[in-house]
Amino acid sequence: MSYTNSDFEPPRPRRSPLRRPLTVAVAALVPGALLGWGVYAAVGGSDDGGDAAGARTSSAAPSGGAASASDDAKDPSDSSPSAGGKPTASPSESAPAGASGPLKGKVVVIDPGHNPGNFQHTSEINRKVNVGTHWKECDTTGTATNAGYPEAKFTLDVAHRLRTLLEEQGATVKLTQDGDRAYGPCVDERARIGNEADADAAISIHADGSGAGNRGFHVILPGAVHDGDADTRAIVAPSAELGERVAGNFLRATGSAPSNYVGDGTGLVTRTDLGGLNLSTVPKVFIECGNMRDDKDVAQLTSGTWRQKAAQGMSEGIVSFLRG
Ligand code: ZN
Repeated sequence: MSYTNSDFEPPRPRRSPLRRPLTVAVAALVPGALLGWGVYAAVGGSDDGGDAAGARTSSAAPSGGAASASDDAKDPSDSSPSAGGKPTASPSESAPAGASGPLKGKVVVIDPGHNPGNFQHTSEINRKVNVGTHWKECDTTGTATNAGYPEAKFTLDVAHRLRTLLEEQGATVKLTQDGDRAYGPCVDERARIGNEADADAAISIHADGSGAGNRGFHVILPGAVHDGDADTRAIVAPSAELGERVAGNFLRATGSAPSNYVGDGTGLVTRTDLGGLNLSTVPKVFIECGNMRDDKDVAQLTSGTWRQKAAQGMSEGIVSFLRG
């Protein structure tokens, strides 16, 4: 449902002279390392949720938005960010115990993609904002599973888990939204929050809405953009390093495979059409954790235990990046 208001474009040809398939073995042997994966430029798609180009669906939104979603509630571990076994603070708490951790002094901005309230504010989120290269919708609703578990609820849950883990490492963590506003923020504001926080790293969390059979995760890296208010040239290299570390650790922590429908097995995709990346002046990546339209991926995405692993992988990737 990310795409209803999007100006669809066909995906562009993929080019990746350096690409190599991402394998579990490599990531397991070199956890957190800069693995040197190739990437390809995919500047198709228009949904600033990051959801993959060339994988559009027209499935209906959950009729009642977040309030009607119930599959997640069936997961006994859903209500606790500590699912996965590790005791954690509640999402609303800061983590003074970690103030002296290895990430002391580091700022991480987490952007939970979309907003559970976007379904009720379509006129507001359809308003166009300037993303440097072009104008596009303020925000999108995000996708949902066929059973009605919204992407926006998934992204907030993973963001809370990730925040807890990073705070345990001593990081200062800021969320772009915490279910505390009616809709949005717009994609330009999501980028601005990271910029104004002078974040050392920023990550936007999503799940994709592709066709059944399309599976796996991918991390989206900013391509070089210098147009209007957008200038990503300074963040392309550090963002690639951040993204490679996140992808490698995500793979290892979750056991999930890289996307089988974008990225040519690398788990990495470079895009230049996303305002959340184009307008960032700090190292930033998006992660599409899986496909909410594939039953096997959904079994993972709706599991609190799996989401904890996902957050753990992201955290370890970010920690690795920030510690150098
Ligand atoms: Zn999304």
